[in-house]
Amino acid sequence: MKNILVTGGSGFIGSHTCLSLLERGYRVFVIDSFENSSEKALEKVLEILKLKKLDLVERLKIFNCDIRNYKLLENVFAEINTSNKKVDGIIHFAGLKSVADSIKTPLEYWQVNVLGTINLLNAMEKFNCQNFVFSSSATVYANQENNLLSEKHPIKAINPYGNTKLTVENLLNDIFNSSDKKSKFASLRYFNPIGAHSSGLIGEDPKCKANNIFPLIINTAMGLQKEFKIYGNDWSTKDGTPIRDYIHIMDLAEAHIEVLENLLNDKSRYLILNIGTGRGTSVLELLKTFENVNNIKVPYVFSNRREGDLGYVVADNSLLKSELNFTPKMSIEDMCRDGWNWKKLNPNGY
Ligand code: NAD
Repeated sequence: MKNILVTGGSGFIGSHTCLSLLERGYRVFVIDSFENSSEKALEKVLEILKLKKLDLVERLKIFNCDIRNYKLLENVFAEINTSNKKVDGIIHFAGLKSVADSIKTPLEYWQVNVLGTINLLNAMEKFNCQNFVFSSSATVYANQENNLLSEKHPIKAINPYGNTKLTVENLLNDIFNSSDKKSKFASLRYFNPIGAHSSGLIGEDPKCKANNIFPLIINTAMGLQKEFKIYGNDWSTKDGTPIRDYIHIMDLAEAHIEVLENLLNDKSRYLILNIGTGRGTSVLELLKTFENVNNIKVPYVFSNRREGDLGYVVADNSLLKSELNFTPKMSIEDMCRDGWNWKKLNPNGY
């Protein structure tokens, strides 16, 4: 049985990916500081598995650890080793993710996202692990209106959050090009993950203030805010509102397993991959689909464009299909239904 270390495994993408890993037969070690997540998320993951008659509590171990602290990280690797298990691969989700906060507190973002990753890479080297999957982001791409973004598209981070992601991508490239040639790395550039597991037992529950489109639509539907603001209806898109590439969180989780297995079974490589559906959906379309699928009204208003916003951000996902033979399966309807189901069943989160 392969042992996978998942940092940030209690967070939104991490918890859904832990579920997929456990279902697919891996032993999972989670590192999380619970800075932006609840310890209950992973209890719920085990509950979902129990409903499927899989009692996998023995296969999941959680370490409360801040990746900024190298000594603590080393202790985690050492503890895993003393139980005669070796970390076969790492999926590195732990990080801070708010663009707005990164502009206010860049030092904190560099410390967690860059220094934390350097600590992890050092520990990984010391304990002789080669397989590393990194959560990057589509924010690393330079603006290109109305064209699909392929991995070859020019790169230009325009805020501290994007800078930290790009810096780690570059660091991985430097390590990969160094002499040892053993590394197997992947940087996954996510587009817009939304939705929740269909059970409604796990979903997105950040401690920080929501500022992404989908959680804001949900909050408005819940009556937690009066109206949903659409920033600009004068973009050069079909209905004037910005277009994004939304991917169901369970498709994203599955994509991680495919990437991991590719690394585990292949020779040394550094794979940079878009993880999106290749389908563009406007904000208005997303909102209307949410209303129709869930039979609920979401009041909205148009307001001015915000500085730095983009009109069109959609993945060219042909590499994902050709490299991994993987195509996201879930529709926008699935994402809207599952996301709302999670929130209805857990109005106060975990
Ligand atoms: P999340 O905030 O739900 O999960 C991140 C997890 O990391 C949380 O559980 C948090 O407690 C933990 N964490 C934060 N700082 C830590 C530290 N110093 N030490 C240990 N753990 C720490 O976010 P998410 O949406 O699941 O995103 C996961 C990763 O994917 C992040 O790196 C994020 O930048 C990246 N990403 C997310 C999106 C998105 O839209 N959700 C898009 C692109 C990239």
